[in-house]
Formats: sequence, structure tokens, C-alpha cells
Amino acid sequence: MMKTFKVELAPNNKQRSLLNQAAGTARWAYNWALAEEKAHYAETGEFFFDRELRKQLTQLKKTPEFAWLNQYSNNITKQAIKDCSIALKNFFKGHAEFPVFKSKHKTKPSFYHDPWKLKVTATYVQLEKIGRVRVKEQGRIPLDVSYQNPRITCENGRWSISVAVDVECESDRGITDPIGIDLGVKDLAIVSDGRKYKNINKSKRVKQLGKRKKRLQRRASRHYERMVKDRCKKSRGLQNLEHEIRSVNKKIRDQHTNHIHQMTSELVKAKPAYIVIEDLNVNGMLKNHKLAKAIQDNRLAEVRRQLEYKCEWYGVELVIADRFYPSSKLCSRCGHKKVDFKLSDRVYRCEHCGNVMDRDLNAAINLLHYKMHEVSA
Ligand SMILES: [Zn+2]
Repeated sequence: MMKTFKVELAPNNKQRSLLNQAAGTARWAYNWALAEEKAHYAETGEFFFDRELRKQLTQLKKTPEFAWLNQYSNNITKQAIKDCSIALKNFFKGHAEFPVFKSKHKTKPSFYHDPWKLKVTATYVQLEKIGRVRVKEQGRIPLDVSYQNPRITCENGRWSISVAVDVECESDRGITDPIGIDLGVKDLAIVSDGRKYKNINKSKRVKQLGKRKKRLQRRASRHYERMVKDRCKKSRGLQNLEHEIRSVNKKIRDQHTNHIHQMTSELVKAKPAYIVIEDLNVNGMLKNHKLAKAIQDNRLAEVRRQLEYKCEWYGVELVIADRFYPSSKLCSRCGHKKVDFKLSDRVYRCEHCGNVMDRDLNAAINLLHYKMHEVSA
């Protein structure tokens, strides 16, 4: 099954103008092809095949008047000519009106990109002759798959890219057992089958970056004090420091995001029958100051966001447990509910059946049970 994925781009000013020019080129080629077709039809009663028009355009590009076309990817004009001949075919089949010229103001700017030359990562897309353009929503498009019919379009000044992906190819894998996932504070996630995903804050690389950030911030704060005392402007040195801090922050962020991508891909690609996660009231928890940092660091919201769309790609059902489901208070063995269970209690001890278990694993198993209870209730 082909599925279309679309993500908004965040081009810089230079890229924005290149995108506009590329779309302008596509519009020009479409109109040129349509004009040639009309003239040819008036003369001979026949239309050109699109390959003949493409050959003509290649010749035109060699003339000084049309040399400007060489600045843009060859595929833009090639596809625009194809689009024109498809529009004509649709007219003759009775599927559409006779094609009209695309006007600058009424047509949505749009152009085609060669799928083989398109590079997609979680954070940017690499476009031919335009460069790396940042995407607004990280990881929206599946990675490491083949893309079809990439189109870059603009609506109300917002650029986005859409690609078609064959998602069926993944579905012949066997379905594995359902899982519950507890998104922890100590660890990033604990799965009901016992798998544990560590918190990346404890990794060597992130620790190093964290130390570097602190050093830079200390140096920056000395600059700020001096600035206030001497009432002077922001020095060049301070500007450089601020720049460095921003770049370290970005590196830390990327480490987190990649880590979460690895985890969510691994969990979803195994195609469990379904996945249950808790509905975290992230805003409410942020008011609890002790937790605030951990929550932000763990990016629980990010985990959920990624699971939501990856489950959609792979056809896995994602169940969000009710916010009031006491996943950490219930005993996963006998169902007994503890009245008083603090967040600092790392081990779950059931006074009813004697079950002793890691609190997060206990919660993950309860989440797995959630769907069963829901069905039986
Ligand atoms: Zn129990």
C-alpha cells in the first residue's frame, strides 16, 4: 500500500528564494509544454509525446536565451512536461477539463524532485541544487525506504515536502506479543517483557557535553557580571561563548532524539500485537519541581509522539491508558491496589500476595494488562 507522508520545511531565506525559483521553473516548463502542444495540435491535429518535448527543451537550454534553465535541476522541467502530457491524457479520457496555463498568482507553487537524489534524515532533507533544508517535525518521514513522487509545495508561504512510501513491504513480518511500556524517570523506558532502555543522560558522550556546557556557562556568567559592572555592550568574546553554548545544546538535543528514535523504531518494528503506554499529564508533572528536569530530559512527550506515528506506519495499534489508571499502584500479579505508594519507592512490595518487583517493571506489566481489563470490563 502506498502512503503519502508530508512534513513542513523550515528553509532559511536563501533556500526560500531558491525554492520559489524552482517552483517558478516548473510552472514555466509546464506552460511552455502546453503552448507547444497547442501550437502543434493546431498545425497537425496531433499532440507531441512528452519525450519529444523534453528533447526540444534540451536543445533550447543550449541557447543563450534559455541558459538560465541550467541553474535548476533537470528533473524539475522534465516532470513538469510529463505533468502537462498527463493532464492532456486525462482530458482525452474524459477524466478532466482541458488543461489551462498555470498563473503565477492562482497556482500553488510546486515542483518535483528526483527520488534518487533525495536524501532524508530525521532532521533535514537534502534537495538538489538547494541544499539541506531543515524539517519542522523531526522523523515524520520514514527513513531508509525508497521514496516515490517527491513533491515540494508551498501553501500560504509555508513550504513542505511530500513523498509516497510503500508501507506494505513491512507488514509480512510476524506479529509478536503485545507489550506495555512504562516511561520512567530513572530509566527512559521499561518494557513489560523485561527490556530496559537506559537514560541517555548517563552516557559518556552526554555527560561530556553536559560538563562542557557548564564550563561555558560559567565563563559566560563572568562576562555578564563584567558587562553589568562596566555598563558596556556585549563583547565579541561573549557572543562567541553564547554561540558555543547554543551549539552544545543542539548536540545534546540530537543525542536525545537519536536515542529515542532508536528505541521507538526497535519497539515498533518488532510488530507487537499492540503497545500500551500511559497517558502522562506532562504539564501537570512539570509543576512538580523535582520531577521537572527529569521529565524534560527524558522527553517523554517525544517518545509518545514518535510511537504514535511509527505505529501508524507499521500498522501497530497504540493504546493510551487512561490518565487515572493506577499502573504503578496495582500489583501486577494479584491486582491488589496499594493506597500509599511514593515515587521514591523503587521496589513494589505487595502486602497481599508477597510479590516483590522493580516498580517500573510492575507498572509496565500493568499497562500490558490494561487493554485486557478494558475489554473484559
Ligand atoms: Zn499482589
